[in-house]
Amino acid sequence: MPWDAAVAVAALNNAALQQQAILLIGGQELARFCHNDLQRAVLALPGQNVRYTPGRISPQQVGTHRPSYINALLIQSRGVVSVPACDRCRDGHGPFPECRRVQGRFGGACGNCKWPDLAARCSVRDNEDDDDDSSSSSDDDVVVISDDSSSDGGAPPPPPPPGTALAKRFPGPLKKKAPLY
Ligand SMILES: [Zn+2]
Ligand SMILES: [Zn+2]
Repeated sequence: MPWDAAVAVAALNNAALQQQAILLIGGQELARFCHNDLQRAVLALPGQNVRYTPGRISPQQVGTHRPSYINALLIQSRGVVSVPACDRCRDGHGPFPECRRVQGRFGGACGNCKWPDLAARCSVRDNEDDDDDSSSSSDDDVVVISDDSSSDGGAPPPPPPPGTALAKRFPGPLKKKAPLY
């Protein structure tokens, strides 16, 4: 396989052989899949192995490095069980049997909602006003998904220097203020 997830493959195969649907990602196994500071910060938290529903997670999915998949695995391996579970988990959505979330990270959404990138619909997510729409989407936007994209268009151009050009081009009409007397 071209992607470098031997650990994940071994964990999945091992789990299938033992009829135990457990991902062995409680340590730093996901380090190669973390591409931004938020993911690395969550990875640094104490972790545990992750239970999943057999057949709902494939090594190929993890190998895509898709941010929602990796973030969901980080949430499940670092999060705590949410009591009660969120609405989507109670309806049986998602690849994990447990509703887990990391408060203050990924909007506080659970892994099952994060997996299909539906964190905004998670009923147990954090409801901080300033962490509403921008954080979850922008987290995903900055992640490099594929390894073979050497350059993805580059960063936007830097803003122009403040004020100087305009000030020179438009000198104030009241430059010479005549004395009153
Ligand atoms: Zn949930
Ligand atoms: Zn949820």
